[in-house]
Amino acid sequence: MVAVVCILMAIVALAFVLFVEPEVAAGPVVDEQLMPLLRKKDVLYENLRDLLFEFRMGKLSEADYAESKRSAQAELVPLMSAIDELNAKKIREEITPPAGWCARCAHTNPDSNAFCGNCGAPLKKKSKR
Ligand SMILES: [Zn+2]
Repeated sequence: MVAVVCILMAIVALAFVLFVEPEVAAGPVVDEQLMPLLRKKDVLYENLRDLLFEFRMGKLSEADYAESKRSAQAELVPLMSAIDELNAKKIREEITPPAGWCARCAHTNPDSNAFCGNCGAPLKKKSKR
């Protein structure tokens, strides 16, 4: 009976992983780079959960479990730092002010202005996209 429940749960989990796509946030290039990494992270976490499950069910020896867990975690570490880096990049992109925005008085000027129309501060020429 327990085995049947376990098999059903495994099938549901598998179906969920295979058919439920995470919502893709429509966004800039960073998101396109980020999404596959996040998916891979989810898969690795899923694998870790499965490993623990199988270990608890007695299907895996402790040595096998420790070994598999170590290799999964070894994959996870560079992945997590890549995700962190992309997230940081994304935040930097989001807080980059638009062209014509005055850093001194926060007045928004036309893009063509070299100086702020409100306070006269020089505007940074930037943001070529
Ligand atoms: Zn200004």
